[in-house]
Amino acid sequence: MARLPHRLNAALAAAVGAVLVLAAQSPAAARSSLGAWRVSPSGVLELRTSPAVELKAYFEAGTASRGAKLWVDLPGEPNRSRSIGGSGALKEVRIGRPDGNTTRLVLEFQPGIRLNPRLLRLVGTAPDRWRMPLLGLPTRGLISIGEGDLEARAPAAEQRPSFPTSGAPLSPDGLPVVPRGRFKVVVDPGHGGPDPGAIGIAGLRETDVVLDVALQLARLLEARGVTVAMTRTSDIDVDLPPRVALANGAGADAFISIHANALSMARPDVNGIESFYFAGGPQAERSRLLADAVQRQMLAISPRTPDRGVKTARFFVIRRATMPATLVEMGFLTGVLDASRLRDPDYRRRMALALAAGILNYLRAAP
Ligand SMILES: [Zn+2]
Repeated sequence: MARLPHRLNAALAAAVGAVLVLAAQSPAAARSSLGAWRVSPSGVLELRTSPAVELKAYFEAGTASRGAKLWVDLPGEPNRSRSIGGSGALKEVRIGRPDGNTTRLVLEFQPGIRLNPRLLRLVGTAPDRWRMPLLGLPTRGLISIGEGDLEARAPAAEQRPSFPTSGAPLSPDGLPVVPRGRFKVVVDPGHGGPDPGAIGIAGLRETDVVLDVALQLARLLEARGVTVAMTRTSDIDVDLPPRVALANGAGADAFISIHANALSMARPDVNGIESFYFAGGPQAERSRLLADAVQRQMLAISPRTPDRGVKTARFFVIRRATMPATLVEMGFLTGVLDASRLRDPDYRRRMALALAAGILNYLRAAP
């Protein structure tokens, strides 16, 4: 990697979209700012770092005999260099010290594994947490590897500050651009009418939350020239089969069903965001990319909310949809952290922006 000229590194960093500046302080101290790392079986690189450090990520395509490499540079030096054997498409992970004050975390993939750097983004999900879904990486045979405790909390004072939600648009102007008139998306606000869905803290109703977000999402997509069909636009009940029939009849490029979770009122400690796709159909791979894209954006606006991941499921609407489809759970109405946010109109506005950004990113990169 040192053999890459500096300028090329910078260009690659731009291509990876991963130069995220949380704050401009580089610790002068030599201790590594890498607290923990993990590559999950679903192909997500997760990092815990010292709060407010600056990371840089780079990508180098492979050759016939050498695998592609992805690396992240962090301030501070590790106490020793080491390499850890990978599994599946991941050949090896190395921790190195290239220059005496940098920790370099290298993921080397098996030769022949191709990744599109445009789809790779290292996203800060909290001042000390980072996440990069390795979109397009085959997950077959991938076993969780990592070091350190990802869940360890930084001292409360350090965790508090508001931080820039890297990569998450704060206004419609920041949304990704796609060719106007080319795409069609079906937006499905879950539940409605006599079926309020989940009921959360202080009577917060799933049907109201999801309808508000869905209507805003539709407007944002339309403003980007995307044709939107909605399965409902008011508080009425629509059965599941007609929702899917509408989606399938629309010849849409993507389908998103919007929900919020609930557990027991006795579990306000359970919070988190998750996205589902159906792994059994011909659209499984694209659906996974779509789910990954929206999950990433939702997390970016929701610091400290647990990432419950991108998961497979057999929900009717995503199982029967013939186009790439995802069902998102934007948080727990029974969770004290998520409910206080989902109740807030400004958070719902940002959630609609996040979903729009995820969908537009997916459409822009769609194979
Ligand atoms: Zn629901």
